[in-house]
Amino acid sequence: MGGQYPVAMDKVVMDKAAGDKPRWASLLRNGRIRTSAFAQPVEALLAVDGHVRCCGSDGDVAGEARALARNGCKLEEIDLDGGWAVPGLRDGHGHLELLARSYAVLDLRDCRGPGDLVERVAALAEGTPPGTWIRGRGWGGEGWETASEHGAVRELDHHDLSRRVPQHPVLLTRIDEHAALANRAALLSAGLDPDSPGQDPGTFAPDGRVQVDGVGRPTGILLDGALARVAALIPPESRAQRARNLRRARAELLALGLVGVHDMAVGAAQLELLEELCDEEDWALAVSVWLWGPETSEREYLAEVRARFDGPVPGQSGRSPRGNEGPGDGGTSQASPLALGGLKIFLDGALGSRGAALLEPYADAPDETGLLLHTPEELLRRLRLGLEAGLAPALHAIGDRANRMALDAYETLMSDDLWRGSASRRPAAPMRIEHAQVLAAEDLARFRRLGITAGVQPAFALSDAPWLAQRLGAERLAGAYAWSQLATDPGTLCLGSDFPVEEPAPLRTLGAARSWAAPGARALTPEEALEAHSLGVARAAGHASRRGRLKPGHDADISVFDGDPLGPLDELGQLSATHTVVRGRLVYRAVAHSTPD
Ligand SMILES: [Zn+2]
Repeated sequence: MGGQYPVAMDKVVMDKAAGDKPRWASLLRNGRIRTSAFAQPVEALLAVDGHVRCCGSDGDVAGEARALARNGCKLEEIDLDGGWAVPGLRDGHGHLELLARSYAVLDLRDCRGPGDLVERVAALAEGTPPGTWIRGRGWGGEGWETASEHGAVRELDHHDLSRRVPQHPVLLTRIDEHAALANRAALLSAGLDPDSPGQDPGTFAPDGRVQVDGVGRPTGILLDGALARVAALIPPESRAQRARNLRRARAELLALGLVGVHDMAVGAAQLELLEELCDEEDWALAVSVWLWGPETSEREYLAEVRARFDGPVPGQSGRSPRGNEGPGDGGTSQASPLALGGLKIFLDGALGSRGAALLEPYADAPDETGLLLHTPEELLRRLRLGLEAGLAPALHAIGDRANRMALDAYETLMSDDLWRGSASRRPAAPMRIEHAQVLAAEDLARFRRLGITAGVQPAFALSDAPWLAQRLGAERLAGAYAWSQLATDPGTLCLGSDFPVEEPAPLRTLGAARSWAAPGARALTPEEALEAHSLGVARAAGHASRRGRLKPGHDADISVFDGDPLGPLDELGQLSATHTVVRGRLVYRAVAHSTPD
């Protein structure tokens, strides 16, 4: 995989395509800048109107910058503080709105026991208007004072919580999501009186249980269906709350050194809010969306969204486009950071809950092979509908049976006129399979042969490692998380985190990609991992011609860390992002340094 990408160390490489009179420029210096994962570092880089103009020695690049300034170009200098700059890292698979929603839920995963639990909720309640629901999630896990699952539920009741937090309804879900603790206010709002004895635990929700004490009073512990009934009483977040939390998600991602994300399952209501937020002047984070939801099986909806971004599909009428993310006019008015990526379809579930569709039964559940969510015919129908609207598909496939179904469908489509016929309507993004976690040996090579892009999340391999062998059996492990075998070139592999399932931290993703190897395979090299996290993700959205490397003419999207992301694996965990530059603009700088002017 991969090869050396030549770079000039000592001479300035110019953007020959640069035409019109430049208006503003950024000079990055005092750092080490890799223009690709395979390039030796250079000293300085000049971006003009958001695009890389040249890079090379400090003297040469600074001289070019001064010449531009003399001609009336506004020049900004970005001091890299000795940091290491690389082509902007992008998360190839995440969920912005789920990340935003997680901020509204109290994280109780490291909670030590009942007392700690109550104090944390009380602290949050202090700053929250009375009557507002408080949600929490994750208690009862590792480190909880009572180790046993039943013990942890039995020793808890609502009394302490209700005393300390009387004015807010509270619902706190256990780590397994099958049990929750509610306080008095929450119980009362569900019509459950914690003071009245003689209640029947099963009548509130037939598919669940309200735990009661010796005289039949609800203890506050709710199981399954009963939990769901109470959760359904919580009012949905307002649009203003959603927007506020999405802006916070944007800031968190930029601060981790990410310049863009692929938002992997975006419904109509989510898209509408994203369109508004991405039009805000300081949004900056590039977002490519893959449409998802019941509306995506409607031809009209797909054509309408496509027309909103790119103008009407040939042969159909539509309103004038909002303007897709593009290179922009090269001036002060930046193009929208929002782009239409394609269409997302789920084919199976996850390995953890044994929902992933396998060819042979689970090793630890001989009667189960998981679940396929579509028939092959229905899948092809949905894929063709997408292609008619010019939308490239991304199929969620985790088990080997789901992956085979995805590959079969793609192979059929490739001989289809919809894909081969009209180049004007053919999507810029490649056909993708998301996760590609478990593959039969004969299917591994089909990714390379067919040119299918695998969107993989290396951190899953580390998180799933404790139970993976037990669930799959030794034989299937050879085709599990086998990233190095899914692509002939790391630039065709798309790395992501699936945030908020895993942390959106790119250094963790890089570290996982470099440390995990399927039996009989090898881990990715540092260069391959970096290439797949930058160029690979840009390419998977159809943007490889202008993103993913810091070549003259490309978008000046740059991630800067306080150490070399190609450095030793055991040092990656100590590095952090210091600067994030999107289209030549400094959009994040670590607080330890002075703020940009
Ligand atoms: Zn996902």
